[in-house]
Amino acid sequence: MEDEDARCVHCERGSAQVPLLALRFQGMELWICSEHMPILIHKPGQLMSKIPGAQQLTEVEIPDRET
Ligand SMILES: [Zn+2]
Repeated sequence: MEDEDARCVHCERGSAQVPLLALRFQGMELWICSEHMPILIHKPGQLMSKIPGAQQLTEVEIPDRET
């Protein structure tokens, strides 16, 4: 099958069990199931704590102050 290692970042279910949506974040490809997409929208910090190196999304900065 395809996408065998695609798993929801929150519940770790695979696409055999739930519909998964692909995300791209910091060059990583991540997956989230339809059930947990609201968490990504409303409480991204909760998800980001599950992604190594991605905790900084809880405080979104706009890195645009260098000229
Ligand atoms: Zn999920």
